[in-house]
Amino acid sequence: MRKKIVAGNWKMNLDYAEGISLFSEIVNMVRDEKKGDQIAIICAPYLHLNSLTKLGGNVVSIGAQNCHQKESGAFTGEISAKMIKSVGCEYVIVGHSERREYFAESDELLAQKTIIALQNGLTPIFCIGETLDERNNGSYFEVLKSQLLNGVFGLSAEDFSKIVIAYEPVWAIGTGLTASSEQAQEVHAFIRKEIAAQYNDETAENTSILYGGSCNPKNAAELFAQKDIDGGLIGGASLKSRDFADIVKTFN
Ligand code: PGA
Repeated sequence: MRKKIVAGNWKMNLDYAEGISLFSEIVNMVRDEKKGDQIAIICAPYLHLNSLTKLGGNVVSIGAQNCHQKESGAFTGEISAKMIKSVGCEYVIVGHSERREYFAESDELLAQKTIIALQNGLTPIFCIGETLDERNNGSYFEVLKSQLLNGVFGLSAEDFSKIVIAYEPVWAIGTGLTASSEQAQEVHAFIRKEIAAQYNDETAENTSILYGGSCNPKNAAELFAQKDIDGGLIGGASLKSRDFADIVKTFN
């Protein structure tokens, strides 16, 4: 059975005190909304991680937004997967489109980050998504396939079964433009088909595939009702406790 996941991505927002305060509100609200084995995650800036893991209890899990691809060494300013794990984090976002675009992260680099995250016991939330041009010129299936192929399809079936995929069309991130539930479902079904072709039906059935891109309490219900959408990766709306909790609630 695949897991239902709502993951927030705070990006580079909130100073330390603001982060603690928002997170405390989120935990209190999500405690009332979360049902069964549903998973709620907040992916916070590195600075907040150590404190948040102590506050989340078994209500909200914590993830980082990135990690370095090497175990350790002379990489001034970087943070390793081992460090992230050592403060109690369970997840790490790998390959967000902002990392791909602003930090020139290639599929090959992201494949290394995925491996090091897994080796350190973190669950990678691996992001893929097409740009508006790629959507409009019809090459998006090809683009997504190559991101999967070069990013995560090198993993063994056992390792692949430990990761989460997030489909985030770049044109829908932070723009207020959400993919329609049909557009999202079409891509999610495609991703699941590709996983089945690369591995097997069971692996494809068990992989959680999240949708991300201007997901909010209003559109979440319809998106999450789609057969192949197993939750969301939430940017802007995760900065508002009520909105985030309402998105979690939608999923019950
Ligand atoms: P958004 O961001 O919800 O603000 O569009 C989603 C993301 O980038 O993960």
